[in-house]
Amino acid sequence: MGPRRSSSRGGAGHALVLGAGISGLCAARALSGFFERVTVVERDTFPEPSDVRRGVPQGAHVHSLTPGGAQVLAELFPGLVEELAADGGTLAGALDELDIVFFGSRLRQVPLGRVLQVSRPFLEDRLRERVRALPGVTLRSGLEATAPIVTGPLAAGPARVGGARVGPARLARPGDPDSAEAVHADLVVDAMGRAGRGATWLRSLGYRAPATARLAVDVAYASRRYRVAPGALGRAKGVLIGATTTRPRGGVLTQQEHDAWVLSLYGFGKDDHPPAAPERFLDFAADLLPAGTLTALRNAEPITGVSSFAYPASLRRDFHRLRRLPDGLISTGDALCSLNPIYGAGMTVAALEARALRRCLAAGPAGLPRRFYREAARAVRLPWLFSTMADRAMPQVPGTHPAVAGLLATAFRATMRAAADDTRVATAVWNAVSLTGSPAELAAPRVMAAVLRHWSPGTTPRTAPPRGKD
Ligand SMILES: Cc1cc2nc3c(=O)[nH]c(=O)nc-3n(C[C@H](O)[C@H](O)[C@H](O)COP(=O)(O)OP(=O)(O)OC[C@H]3O[C@@H](n4cnc5c(N)ncnc54)[C@H](O)[C@@H]3O)c2cc1C
Repeated sequence: MGPRRSSSRGGAGHALVLGAGISGLCAARALSGFFERVTVVERDTFPEPSDVRRGVPQGAHVHSLTPGGAQVLAELFPGLVEELAADGGTLAGALDELDIVFFGSRLRQVPLGRVLQVSRPFLEDRLRERVRALPGVTLRSGLEATAPIVTGPLAAGPARVGGARVGPARLARPGDPDSAEAVHADLVVDAMGRAGRGATWLRSLGYRAPATARLAVDVAYASRRYRVAPGALGRAKGVLIGATTTRPRGGVLTQQEHDAWVLSLYGFGKDDHPPAAPERFLDFAADLLPAGTLTALRNAEPITGVSSFAYPASLRRDFHRLRRLPDGLISTGDALCSLNPIYGAGMTVAALEARALRRCLAAGPAGLPRRFYREAARAVRLPWLFSTMADRAMPQVPGTHPAVAGLLATAFRATMRAAADDTRVATAVWNAVSLTGSPAELAAPRVMAAVLRHWSPGTTPRTAPPRGKD
């Protein structure tokens, strides 16, 4: 039995989603209505809202949702953005309440709508509630997927993945493989994150693993949450200072739900990784944040310790290029493409892939994996291109010819200088990074002309200190 709409109540068959992160929850939403039953299996047990959980340690760090991502989430979960805002999330005026400095220049503060700022655990908690309420959807936690179940002949013929074996999560010691239960399903969705079990499973079934594009960025994060005295940070609800070629460090300070603020600091390369020691944490930000902002943070009440996260490389698995794929298995989210988090596009891409899955399901079950991967590759293309181009401009990221890296850096610098002066360029840049507009806006003649006016190869970048309450 496969996915099909059989009545107004929903479809037929059973879909199994492995992993209840953002991509798993969005996929479950896309599947409900096309399958009679959807089971989501998650290795973690769910904590209290606002707790960072073991399977998603990145939840301690800033998780910006792009306006483009918010639009797609709102399509999948109508009313979600309003609900999150009403329940304590921060809505920040973009760009007038955000102070954004990329490649050394501040983005002109043109009013272009509002962005939702919430923590990852808060967002995930609300998504989980929504998914649990969907008809036919069951969430099972504390269970780990260990292997695919195959129906039909193996590599020699048209094998089909018909479910997965799941067992008690191995928390401290290896699980007992005999205790694994066979969960049969017509479609299995690997949403288990960047470790890439779906790709490994393909190999174990005799298929080729997908070619993987990898860009070693060696970025590390450190983050801490604060309660800041009202008014101490002026009217800004977010400050984002990107790295430059000569100062490969950046930071994001964001007001989130219930007036908590999170500061995430990051750096490219070992020498610029932020410290995990609480007493040295803010020192790292001394040449990033304006003095007033730094003072406000030094006087603020820390509400967590400092969490660290190492992100070695962006990677993209090109499932869409595989000539042979089994039916019944797809990978989505970070399992498909994991982007350098400093560009804040991972959740947006996960939501876009869920939307693509929904479209593919609506067109019927035949050849679903191949059709899905083709659409997902389209969703991934631009965010991958933007993030890897920006990373390749950094001399700290190996593998790019210095002349190319220099050219990219000059282009980003010139664009951002133009975006500091020119409303149209600022709008085009914001629409590109927020994944709301077409990147063709950046190639519009007036935008290009403004960028060319600021083009000065080889000059040292201006590293404008961000505006703030000094
Ligand atoms: C430091 C950092 C900061 C980030 N900041 C941003 C940001 O600002 N904006 C943004 O959009 N994105 C950001 N991201 C990226 C974002 O976290 C992911 O792209 C997004 O959450 C999609 O991931 P996912 O759901 O596919 O995987 P994950 O979030 O990794 O979830 C995978 C889930 O699968 C579960 N799981 C794993 N193995 C098994 C198994 N065998 N059986 C059952 N369950 C299993 C895990 O417990 C987990 O719940 C950031 C990432 C990092 C590392």
